[in-house]
Amino acid sequence: MSYLDQVINASGGHSAPLENLDEKEIRASLEAAGMLVPEEQDLADALLEIVEKHGKFNDDNTGVWAGYTSAKENTENAEIGVKCGNCIFWQAPNGCSIIVAETEEGGLCRFAVLPDGTVTATAGSKPAPKKDQIKGSSKNPSGSASGGKSITFSKKVEASLQEKADKHNEKYGDTASKKTSLKTLKAVYRRGAGAFSTSHRPDQNRNSWAMARVNAFLHLLRTGKPKNSKYTTDNDLLPASHPRSSKKDASALTASSYDSYIDSQLEIALLGKDQYVSAEHAIHSLAEYSGMGYDIIPSIRAAWVRGLKAGDDPYERASLLATQLHSSPDSDLLPKEGF
Ligand code: SF4
Repeated sequence: MSYLDQVINASGGHSAPLENLDEKEIRASLEAAGMLVPEEQDLADALLEIVEKHGKFNDDNTGVWAGYTSAKENTENAEIGVKCGNCIFWQAPNGCSIIVAETEEGGLCRFAVLPDGTVTATAGSKPAPKKDQIKGSSKNPSGSASGGKSITFSKKVEASLQEKADKHNEKYGDTASKKTSLKTLKAVYRRGAGAFSTSHRPDQNRNSWAMARVNAFLHLLRTGKPKNSKYTTDNDLLPASHPRSSKKDASALTASSYDSYIDSQLEIALLGKDQYVSAEHAIHSLAEYSGMGYDIIPSIRAAWVRGLKAGDDPYERASLLATQLHSSPDSDLLPKEGF
């Protein structure tokens, strides 16, 4: 399903404002807004069709080679904007709609579809200074483009994570390699919620998918090894003394540097609207910024589509809902319970 389809299919569980939408009309609006040019969307649609038919591209020498390059190896390209973070298929923080590999914002594969305007210079030339790369929306809260805000979750999710951390620490908290915190579990949950956008079992919702990842992390903490040997993606969040910690030089990692690392995993910042590479990328980030947790995603999608239908700037409309919540013109779209 393309990100455009995801926008159109928004608003599960709410009064549906979307049923009479014409997909062509929405696509034309996106193109007119400069988010897409027709060739780019056609290329993206073709890749998505291949994925639908054959499954996601993998990197294991079978089928078509995706050629994923890690952020560490892609620094020169990333500096000028040639990176996953600017690709329309990227699903923050570590996903991709079309390849299996776990991605990074600064990584790249050979299928990248980069909308016009996302590449700031030709390879070999100097990237634009940071101040010129980030343009805040006039409607963004002041300071949002510079980061520094910590993500918040719905009260329900926070209470559930707190309970898990407390129960775990009651039994295992006296052992440094097994101890955890609410903050660490939030970081794991955030990754799970982001990964849901990329792939999940059909019987799962975003919350259950993210909680399953938290449970897998707790299992890894208490037993020293993962239930599924492929689960290595949160090893950087383990205490340094845990046998699977990816922090190689555990002796150099103080408790406070571990703490700052976890903090950095929970930091959010709204980008300037021109920096979002797809509607889905913007909607996900706005949900994280809203302070209402991931349950607000369908509402933000719905506000986005209302904006398109009304001829307004869809980002501004969605952004108003995420930042002004009950004072926003689209407050009727907010979830009714649990906040
Ligand atoms: S460049 Fe795009 S298609 Fe390739 S891995 Fe990154 S997000 Fe996926």
